[in-house]
Amino acid sequence: MDKVKANLLKVQQNIEKAAYKSGRKPADIILVAVTKTVESDTIAFTHEQGISNFGENRVQQLKRKMESLPEANWHLIGRLQTNKVKDVVGKVSLIHSLDRWNLAEELNRRGEFLGVKVPTLLQVNISGEEQKAGITAGEAEVFLDSLGQLKNLRIYGFMTMAPWLDNVEEARPIFKELFQLKEKLKHQKHSNVELKYLSMGMSQDYEIAIEEGANIVRVGSAIFSGE
Ligand SMILES: *Cc1c(COP(=O)(O)O)cnc(C)c1O
Repeated sequence: MDKVKANLLKVQQNIEKAAYKSGRKPADIILVAVTKTVESDTIAFTHEQGISNFGENRVQQLKRKMESLPEANWHLIGRLQTNKVKDVVGKVSLIHSLDRWNLAEELNRRGEFLGVKVPTLLQVNISGEEQKAGITAGEAEVFLDSLGQLKNLRIYGFMTMAPWLDNVEEARPIFKELFQLKEKLKHQKHSNVELKYLSMGMSQDYEIAIEEGANIVRVGSAIFSGE
């Protein structure tokens, strides 16, 4: 666990530097520790180190790990099938991967059934890679407008994934574009839409993402490698 502790310290220092560089406070940035490569003992240790937000990209693993640490905030960061909606609504703190209309409807329906609001981020495919989920930047305005009618949904911002790049600096324009999209759309009219979060940046590029306006970063291997 010594390695995790050292990694975590390094990541937190990097987050601080990037936050100041972008004119913000480190406390404005939420670090989501992505636990897909580790088990509950490591997660418990990380929680003891002061980390309270954890992310999983698969619902099955999320359920299992969430049960081992229910007091933490859990984030679903990967693709959500409509038949798994019941496993996450009312249980997770934030769904980062709302990427299509029928999922939005299903989340809303489940939220209505349980009498809860469902916190989500809209996943936007800025890089345009075909294998990546998400709506396009061009679709975002109309899509958000339609989501306005789903009263048990809450849309708190955008999430994106940059492609894997040899030169991470090439991700910067992608992050910039998502920030600009948020700035453009944040003054719209629906009461269930409040664009306050930008979830962008992973181990390879979280510093660049923060410099470009991210306030949620999803970091796995930079914390847990060598564990
Ligand atoms: C795995 C994963 C991450 C974290 O990736 P690392 O490179 O390990 O930091 C972030 N976001 C999503 C959607 C992931 O699936």
